[in-house]
Amino acid sequence: MPLVHKLLSWYNLNQRDLPWRRNPDPYKTLVSEIMLQQTRVEAVLPPYERFMQRFPSIKDLAFATQDEVLTFWQGLGYYSRARRLHQAAQIIMTEHDGLIPSDKNTLQALPGIGDYTCGAILSIAFHQPEVAMDGNLLRVGARLFLIRDPINRTKAKTAIKTGFESTVPVERPGDFNQALMDLGSSICLPKHPRCGECPLSDHCQAYVQGEAMLLPIKDAPKPPVPVQVQLYLVESDKTILFRQRLAGGFLQGMWELPWYETDTLQVAEEYGWISVPLESGSREKVYEMEYIFSHRHWFMTIFHYKVVEPFYTPQDENTLYRWQPLHSVDTIALPTVFKKVLELVQNSLSG
Ligand code: SF4
Repeated sequence: MPLVHKLLSWYNLNQRDLPWRRNPDPYKTLVSEIMLQQTRVEAVLPPYERFMQRFPSIKDLAFATQDEVLTFWQGLGYYSRARRLHQAAQIIMTEHDGLIPSDKNTLQALPGIGDYTCGAILSIAFHQPEVAMDGNLLRVGARLFLIRDPINRTKAKTAIKTGFESTVPVERPGDFNQALMDLGSSICLPKHPRCGECPLSDHCQAYVQGEAMLLPIKDAPKPPVPVQVQLYLVESDKTILFRQRLAGGFLQGMWELPWYETDTLQVAEEYGWISVPLESGSREKVYEMEYIFSHRHWFMTIFHYKVVEPFYTPQDENTLYRWQPLHSVDTIALPTVFKKVLELVQNSLSG
């Protein structure tokens, strides 16, 4: 039996029941596939349900504020994806009459639609014979086609994609991609592939050669760059000062506790950059904490200040500031690092 038939027969019996697979449409596919970039299925499920309840159509998403979109993206991280999805929705409304494009070039021109997402949308939502190369397909492909080059390099990616392109069936291209994703996450596992249960073992060159456990090969990722950060937790009357930087930079568009990387500090004054009369209050405590992002390793010094009247909000044309009551902090889009900071200092917070 050809590989495709074995794969799809296995998928018929073993496919995961996922909310975006029920009555699929292009919008569900767009949202779910962007959420699935760099994020595991299990982590996507709760935020996806909440997001679709609040933004059930491309129109609802396009007309929402960025703030609200980011708030409903909480739990997924990599917030730039949410900003780009929001921008894409707005372009789809204004330039494509609210219809997600089914043409490859038009689709790829939208913000946030890379090769993988484009292949997923075209194959799943529009039944076009495209390959959606995610991490699962890369791993399964490296083993099936015995690719010994590191899979994070273009040469290996191209070889694997070419292999799948010559295999993807015109009848069920979306199921083909999703079957490979499911196979990768349940059978062709990264460290211990369960070849004895695999429907493709007869076709798998790595298995036949006894190299399944040795592949794929990957270049070691670069370690996150260590960065010294000073962070200010400014509290007044049971509210906390947050800021949102509107233009460029790391964590752009997110609400955050004011911070700066000490290497880039330009001003001599200790806290002149924040423009808050910290001297009107008292410094409660200083904490140390580490947090690792994908590319940065923050070594934070956290200054907890309690300030008193005047209740002052700093002004800056590129930055918004707001005082948020402690009890409602979870209603704003706050990256995990700042939630951890709040947890760390919670015992010395007022109220
Ligand atoms: S036979 Fe083993 S290595 Fe090959 S695709 Fe199946 S699980 Fe993966």
